[in-house]
Amino acid sequence: MLNWLRKILSKEIFPSRPKIIHCHVCFLKATHTLRIISEEFGSEEEPKEIIIKICGGCNEEIHERYNSSE
Ligand SMILES: [Zn+2]
Repeated sequence: MLNWLRKILSKEIFPSRPKIIHCHVCFLKATHTLRIISEEFGSEEEPKEIIIKICGGCNEEIHERYNSSE
């Protein structure tokens, strides 16, 4: 009977806030998702997929490092 009221109250008490995702590296606001696949050659285990959130600056830095041939 009071379900509708409870719903309204719970919305008031716990307003849905937009979630801010922070960069995994520098804790600025993240704007990119970086997917890393970690696989051990010769292992029968499934490759591990790691997803981290990073900001634009760190994304560029990682790509620069990744693309530079050493
Ligand atoms: Zn960052």
